[in-house]
Amino acid sequence: MQKDLQQQWQQICERIRNESRDAVLQGWLSQLSPEMTDAENIVISAPTRFMRDWLVDKAYDALMTSIWQQINPAIKAVQFAVLPAPEMPEEEPVAEVITDNADSNLSHLNPAFTFENFVVGKPNEFATAAARRVATIADIAFNPLYIHSSVGLGKTHLMHAIAWELRKSRPGCRFLYLSAEQFMYQFVKALKTQDTLSFRDMFREVDVLMVDDIQFICGKKATQEEFFHTFNELISEGKQIVLCSDSSPLALKDIDARLKTRLAQGLVVDIFPTTYEMRIGILQSKAQAMNAAIPQDVIEFLAERITTNVRELEGALRRVVANAQLLGSPITLDTTKMILRDTLNLYEKELSIDLIQKETAEYFQIQPNNLKSNSKERRVAQPRQIAMYLSKVLTTHSLPEIGAAFDRDHTTIMHAVRTIEERMKADLKVYEDVEALRKSLQRYS
Ligand code: ADP
Ligand code: MG
Repeated sequence: MQKDLQQQWQQICERIRNESRDAVLQGWLSQLSPEMTDAENIVISAPTRFMRDWLVDKAYDALMTSIWQQINPAIKAVQFAVLPAPEMPEEEPVAEVITDNADSNLSHLNPAFTFENFVVGKPNEFATAAARRVATIADIAFNPLYIHSSVGLGKTHLMHAIAWELRKSRPGCRFLYLSAEQFMYQFVKALKTQDTLSFRDMFREVDVLMVDDIQFICGKKATQEEFFHTFNELISEGKQIVLCSDSSPLALKDIDARLKTRLAQGLVVDIFPTTYEMRIGILQSKAQAMNAAIPQDVIEFLAERITTNVRELEGALRRVVANAQLLGSPITLDTTKMILRDTLNLYEKELSIDLIQKETAEYFQIQPNNLKSNSKERRVAQPRQIAMYLSKVLTTHSLPEIGAAFDRDHTTIMHAVRTIEERMKADLKVYEDVEALRKSLQRYS
């Protein structure tokens, strides 16, 4: 089994070497090693967390799954993991204080997360305006600025945008961006080395402090105390603080009551879920950044179907683009649906026979109950067979189930399916009617 696995892996590597245009991926192949966890699942281990995150970010797990299935159909999922598993969370480089404009200091900020790349609409315009104000004007209007939303709606993007903009609009302004998690690691490290003084000094130097995912300190008493201390000191010295979180200050749990009150004292803004128009704008902007030409119908399809958050929307777009690049095939609506079939099932409403009957009746301008009647009249009989045919090909219902919906038995449905298949070949008019209906029904799936 292990031998088969290695052979399959070699085939996959071979294929990636020949077909992928991603030089980074090619360079890393030799450092990856696959492991079978059971007959259906494969875990590919990467030596570092960075590498693992990068592979996942580029949706290479989805891609590996789909090429692996072509070699071995028994495989259900291929995932990436870090090995050897770190006992402690890996130490992340702490964001350095930006005391000048040296680019090297900005390496922990995502260059793509700028205001220019941030698509603004009603749901996020207030948060964006507040962020811009902090980034461009030194006078403090509110402190802290506290931005909250559910995951993937652009909080981190906005914070990085503030950093980039500060550098442009307020040269000389010293800022520090870090996550609450990094704050904790640094603090714990300082405690261990008995060097809390230099830890505190790091914050004294800044004009703007940004702490991401502040909810992370909930339930961590010592870290909260230290943060409370830092917070008070900076506020009293007239330094700007910007915080992001997955919930409003008052909804934070396991947090010191005084700190909670202080967090809510400045300006609290939330980012709401995106609108359809924003999602179109975001997809266009991301596609451009990826240098990928995406057909408009694919953009509209994604914007319509992936409404949860922007991270998922972007992830879906990445998968579509990565797949097309690796396989060298064009991006079309059909390939998009194929690639995203697992994800989309989450959002998919199963097309109902009832809906098919309604649409078909409307299309042929007859009464829906005519589709269940015994009338042999051609005006009614052919639409009835078409509705049966569409129910078979567009839903996962069984023949007896479809039969029941039409007050018929399953042999009638089987007969109807065959008849329509034949007619579609022989009669262009029938073909066009069926295709027009199929197209209009696809709006719902
Ligand atoms: P959060 O921190 O709220 O979980 P992120 O800032 O990490 O979310 O955003 C997730 C992804 O979505 C990022 O790639 C970000 O660039 C993108 N994104 C979110 N909102 C927007 C927007 N309005 N315009 C462009 N990209 C966005
Ligand atoms: Mg974030």
